[in-house]
Amino acid sequence: MDHHLNHKIFSSISEVCGESGIEAFVIGGFVRDVLLKRPSSDIDIVTLGSGIDLALKVAHKLNPKIKVSVFKNFGTAMFRYKEWEVEFVGARKESYQRNSRKPIVENGTLEDDQNRRDFTINAMALGLHPDSFGKLTDPFNGIQDLNDGIIRTPLNPDTTYSDDPLRMLRAIRFANQLNFTIEQESLEAIKRNKDRIEIISYERIHVELNKIMLCTKPSIGFKLLQKTGLLELILPELDALKGVEEINGKKHKENFYHTLQVLDNISMSTDDLWLRWSALLHDIAKPRTKKFVEGQGWTFHGHEFIGTKMIPVIFKKLKLPLNEKMKYVQKMVGLHMRPVVLAQEEITDSAIRRLLFDAGDDIDDLMLLCDADITSKNPDKVARYLDNYQLVREKLKEVEAKDRIRNWQPPISGEEIMEVFGLKPCRDIGTIKTAIKDAILDGKIENSYEAAYQLMLNEGARLGHHPEK
Ligand code: ATP
Ligand code: MG
Repeated sequence: MDHHLNHKIFSSISEVCGESGIEAFVIGGFVRDVLLKRPSSDIDIVTLGSGIDLALKVAHKLNPKIKVSVFKNFGTAMFRYKEWEVEFVGARKESYQRNSRKPIVENGTLEDDQNRRDFTINAMALGLHPDSFGKLTDPFNGIQDLNDGIIRTPLNPDTTYSDDPLRMLRAIRFANQLNFTIEQESLEAIKRNKDRIEIISYERIHVELNKIMLCTKPSIGFKLLQKTGLLELILPELDALKGVEEINGKKHKENFYHTLQVLDNISMSTDDLWLRWSALLHDIAKPRTKKFVEGQGWTFHGHEFIGTKMIPVIFKKLKLPLNEKMKYVQKMVGLHMRPVVLAQEEITDSAIRRLLFDAGDDIDDLMLLCDADITSKNPDKVARYLDNYQLVREKLKEVEAKDRIRNWQPPISGEEIMEVFGLKPCRDIGTIKTAIKDAILDGKIENSYEAAYQLMLNEGARLGHHPEK
């Protein structure tokens, strides 16, 4: 096993261990990833002495200038060395009480420390002391599970999951990331313990959701979340997409699996987390807007607009950022039907200009989302839809080259309108501004300051306002 440890960090730890006669091990994710030949950037060190002491000594050996962050309360310390983040902690024993995430912690043996780990594949340790350098300690046969691709808890799964319910999400995340199977008993235990997730903060939940979102095929994780009942608890709006209703022999599309297909599709063309979130939430308002209309069948009118209203609510609950990332997702959800409609009708320049104005620089992302939204099983239909979007793209290019709308702002601002008419902020300002923008995008007036000014005067007069001289 030594050859995995030929990094200077490990030889330095080993030297310190030899000098002070203290045992230390590299444990958890690093060992797992080395064995799986996956890249990893964080190293967790467990010692049978003081984690803080060891960190200070090792850092000094590596480079006296390294800054060590010490967390006295937790008895941990960490430093960065090149691209590595190295964390040190004393081996510990944890006992949990039912109503709290926070265990009672005492010093323990390596075995105690391995018992508190979440999965067998995350509990393996490699010795660093010169006497046992590179020796694997694997009490739960994690190696076997690694080879077989199995997620299994070291202790009784009901105990492991109930102690720290975040582990249920971690199980699903690892299954998705590593393409592993959650062992049957574990899966049953997650179903039994799902309600325990309520003691976990949404900050920690969304970290795991984001890791699932960034997997090569995120549908795997979301199907597991759904199947275990966790999805209904953490993202009920998504869970509500599940199922098909039938009236007069007419069924609508199954929107949950459709959504996951769209998410997988978009994941093939982008690593961008927020475009992936846009795909996950693009149809989120379908359950709320669903109607059966005689003669028409199932409709979801306005689901994109109601969707934009649901995004901030969902982001706030999940403690996701409420900044421009959220606005971006809102924009994608709100606009995702526009190219669909465009592709069905005659494509006018004015409709294209409007779409360019509303989407701005995100227009290419929007078109990717629309491509991903095609999930028909009929290859002829797929080819036809893709062709239609190609046509929309060409038209977008042509109009953008001509009119430069992508980053365009109307020539007259709200401030100027207020100043000209001597108005305080009020609704009429917006009305006048919109009239100018619409007239230009529709090609009714030319895109110039003079034409816009004249229209402003006319609109103002219509509303009973006159320029202050
Ligand atoms: P990644 O770094 O890809 O998120 P990881 O397994 O390294 O995966 P970390 O959060 O870095 O996860 O944790 C390092 C190790 O700490 C894990 O491998 C595991 O042994 C242990 N660990 C982390 N979180 C938990 C938890 N909630 N319960 C039990 N053990 C945990
Ligand atoms: Mg890690």
